[in-house]
Amino acid sequence: MRALLATGDAATTGVTDLDESALDGAVLVDVTHSSINYKDGLAIGGRPGVIRDWPKVPGIDLVGTVAEDAAGWSAGERVLVNGWGLGESRHGGLAERARVEPHMLTRIPAGLTDVQAAAVGTAGYTAALGVLALQDAGMRLDGADILVTGAGGGVGSIAVQLLARAGAEVTALTGRVEQLEPWLRSLGAVAVEPRSSLGEAGRPLQSARWDAVADAVGGTILANALAQLRPGGHATACGLTAGAELPATVLPFILRGITLHGVHSVEQPAAQRERAWSMLEAKLDLAALDEATEVVGLEGAVDAAERILASSIRGRVVVDVR
Ligand code: NDP
Repeated sequence: MRALLATGDAATTGVTDLDESALDGAVLVDVTHSSINYKDGLAIGGRPGVIRDWPKVPGIDLVGTVAEDAAGWSAGERVLVNGWGLGESRHGGLAERARVEPHMLTRIPAGLTDVQAAAVGTAGYTAALGVLALQDAGMRLDGADILVTGAGGGVGSIAVQLLARAGAEVTALTGRVEQLEPWLRSLGAVAVEPRSSLGEAGRPLQSARWDAVADAVGGTILANALAQLRPGGHATACGLTAGAELPATVLPFILRGITLHGVHSVEQPAAQRERAWSMLEAKLDLAALDEATEVVGLEGAVDAAERILASSIRGRVVVDVR
């Protein structure tokens, strides 16, 4: 089968013929599409932190059909996998076939095409988990002032859409205001702010501006956003494109009673995945998703990986692996 094989060295990473006997798992899937997430950029680029045991097929998402009856799954069922170590500790979605364990599979919602399911991918599913975290904390999203960071990326752009459609007044923070403002407004943002406005270390308590923050970047930006939360406000943290450190103080926690929720997509149980995917099917504007999706072939994945690390992708890149 054709597969992208990441070797740990960008110079030798590329499309190759891989024997299917390299795959391990009870359920065989004919993969149609995968996608490029930030983690895939790191893995394909040979950066540390995603794949430890090289070489591996990268791709933390896959979309396809079950190839043969196995472990309660029937041949022909439309399925997807997000996370569960795919493209990290086991061969991933950037190949014509994959083997996974039965608990890893989620049925593709009937309203989504394969390309749309891949375009949502881990990025969109993680954005939905963040929205669920806010709702489960008892937050009323309708009319809430919510800051979304990393808004031009995969997680951020889908968070903007989901929150805006839930009635929130979304401010999108981006390093690409000139390029992305019209698009971010079309996704539902009521305001667009430059990344630099939160980029420098600030005071531990700042003017309270937000009922909630949906953060995908971490670092100084998240620290400043926490310092700008209103009393009782909530923030979700899922990413680290601005840095893994969190140079914050406890003051907004103890003087404003704010809450910071961690969002972890990789090992979520099936029930939580189904909640997230139901929200995505019901609430996403599919025309907007299609417009923000670029589809490339397997050979295009390496270039897309370079572009996601350089933050030059707008929205999502889907890989048609066939
Ligand atoms: P993308 O690359 O698509 O988006 C990240 C965005 O972050 C960029 O588009 C850019 O947005 C912004 N950004 C980039 N560099 C910086 C910087 N130095 N400072 C501030 N902002 C920056 O990635 P994804 O949306 O796929 O993922 C976002 C993060 O979430 C990653 O760290 C990823 O690993 C993490 N993640 C975590 C998951 C989990 O389970 N916890 C699951 C999925 C993703 P703009 O140009 O608009 O400023």
